[in-house]
Amino acid sequence: MGSLYEVPIEKISGVGEKRARLYGKLGIASVGDLIRFYPRTYEDWSHIKPVCETAVGETCCVKAQVEMTPSARTVSGGRWLSSTRVSDDTGFINLTFFNNPYIPRMLHRGREYLFYGKITEGMGGRELVNPQFADASKPPVIRPIYSQVAGLTTKNIESAMHYALNMLPEIIKDPIPQDILSRYELMELRTALCRIHFPISQEDIENSRRRLIFEELLVLVLGLSSIKNMPDKLTNVRIHKNYTSEFVDLLPFRLTDAQLSAISDCINDMSKNTAAMNRLVQGDVGSGKTMVAAAVAYTCIKNGSQAAMMAPTEILARQHYDSFNKLLTPVGMNVRLLTGSMTQKQKREVLEELECGEVDFLVGTHSLISDNVSFRDLGLVVTDEQHRFGVRQRSTLLAKGSNPHLLVMSATPIPRTLALMIYGDLDISVINELPPGRQTVDTLLIDESIRERAYNFLKKNINEGRQCYIVCPAVDNTDTGLKGVEEYADEIRRTVFRDYRVGMLHGKMKAADKDAVMAEFVNGDIDILVSTTVIEVGVDVPNSTIILIENAERFGLSQLHQLRGRVGRGKYKSYCILMSEAKGADALKRLKALCATNDGFKIADEDLKLRGPGDFFGSRQHGLPELKIADLAENVDVLRDAQAAAKDISERYADMNDNELRGLRAEVRMLFTGVGTQLN
Ligand code: ADP
Ligand code: MG
Repeated sequence: MGSLYEVPIEKISGVGEKRARLYGKLGIASVGDLIRFYPRTYEDWSHIKPVCETAVGETCCVKAQVEMTPSARTVSGGRWLSSTRVSDDTGFINLTFFNNPYIPRMLHRGREYLFYGKITEGMGGRELVNPQFADASKPPVIRPIYSQVAGLTTKNIESAMHYALNMLPEIIKDPIPQDILSRYELMELRTALCRIHFPISQEDIENSRRRLIFEELLVLVLGLSSIKNMPDKLTNVRIHKNYTSEFVDLLPFRLTDAQLSAISDCINDMSKNTAAMNRLVQGDVGSGKTMVAAAVAYTCIKNGSQAAMMAPTEILARQHYDSFNKLLTPVGMNVRLLTGSMTQKQKREVLEELECGEVDFLVGTHSLISDNVSFRDLGLVVTDEQHRFGVRQRSTLLAKGSNPHLLVMSATPIPRTLALMIYGDLDISVINELPPGRQTVDTLLIDESIRERAYNFLKKNINEGRQCYIVCPAVDNTDTGLKGVEEYADEIRRTVFRDYRVGMLHGKMKAADKDAVMAEFVNGDIDILVSTTVIEVGVDVPNSTIILIENAERFGLSQLHQLRGRVGRGKYKSYCILMSEAKGADALKRLKALCATNDGFKIADEDLKLRGPGDFFGSRQHGLPELKIADLAENVDVLRDAQAAAKDISERYADMNDNELRGLRAEVRMLFTGVGTQLN
């Protein structure tokens, strides 16, 4: 099979330069690629229905005799129209064909054919419009339907596929070891490839799909575990004493039980002196994850190590820096910030202090993983809002210490299945409790008709001393037709909110300007902050009580939940107003789901169902490769099996270089090359 990836698609009979280009659009360059281009769905011609049993709206196959030679005429616009009538012992159906002048020569009076299509209600009874048909004397089959591009029909692909499958060697070595195949009752590869394209029964489809999904997930899991940090590595970072109670005394509030228990999980991990900690702290927005990180860092620093925290945006990095600085500098710790927007001189100073060990706690953005950043003794890595970082970025930061402890904080509640997928055997602590006194956020879905009332509601809150966010999906309005931050802010400044202080924030602004605006908002010098989703992660201004989200249908549910988490962070009753003109049932269902619950975990699961995993783990953001057949949300059971098998494989074969694993290794490389990992 492997070598077929080196055979160009043009080698297939009937595929010339022009077709090859069309195949290229489908991502198919070689015969191997073609074979791995699985059908999108199937037409089941093997279940033949008596005409009288067909129902309007149903897609089905009937076996019927042509009663008369099809008529053929041109109708308005020069289109061809043919019609005829077919029947079996139980009834008749009218057929209409558009744009095929050959129909009268293809369908012969008195002969029996199989017709496949969707039954509609015509003027003279049941009708099939442009049905597929085939000679009834050939045995009925299940036909594959492929994703198409213009110029390349599913029929073209079907015949190329027959040709390609014939090029498969009689015996191909299955990349999955034999005993795993039998343990999980998997079809072997050659059969699976033939059956997925040309199944004889529904069972064939199920079995071949399961085999190929298993294979893809196994490859994904193996690939991920080889680029992940090895959690079992011994660490030299020693935690001799727990300083949590000393830390707690610095705080103006009491930590919740959930926070304390997450902290104690971490300290336990770090005190074991065996494997490095590898823990995910999951907590809904506002649950106080930052303080957990601070507590863990505190103990780490007190034990003589350096700690680093990486945040996904400058705004967030600065915000963390400010709060750690305020808390820890008075007790003699050296907290420093490192971000891309600092001057060379500022950076150099920090880097020098870092290298000689004067910096205790470094907070920053992606800048932390640059080559020139080196620690003297990095003992703890914290990544905030992890879903924004690729697996590789995390490992790069870890590599700056000698097996430092890792604490990952996630505010996007990742559905359990996906957490397992991404983090494998990461330990998880859940903060399932909000600090006392928090109000739930009421969420309202409204449309233009009551925009003015919504604005008045904002004014009322601002008049009481509170602040508000307005979130727009775009930076400017040009060619999107969506609300853009710049024009929006200009407009409301001139009109409805002319008596209020309106600020503006978006990702394209210079970092220093962003910081300045954010600082003004934090200080209460801005009443309304019009912003893009740059405020989505982590921004913490407890005095803000309303977030109004324009074109709400444009955002993913989890994203909306994050945005909503910007309010309800203090003691004031807070509101999230979703403004949307969307009328589609799906869009409304999503938005209503958000109004109905404040539980981030439920929302994440709902989002996964409605939108698929892309929203969490778009390969762009996360470094997860695109899958051809498996669906992380749907194939949870197979995923579990694949994970068990991967574990088994990595225990049995000391390393992935074993000859037995050649096939799997090649597939791992293939799946991941798109994202440029360093696998071998
Ligand atoms: P998130 O989990 O969303 O990152 P943060 O760590 O930003 O939440 O905390 C949200 C707010 O709650 C911050 O202002 C923080 O100072 C405050 N906070 C954290 N823990 C507590 C607590 N135990 N009691 C009261 N306020 C807290
Ligand atoms: Mg946070």
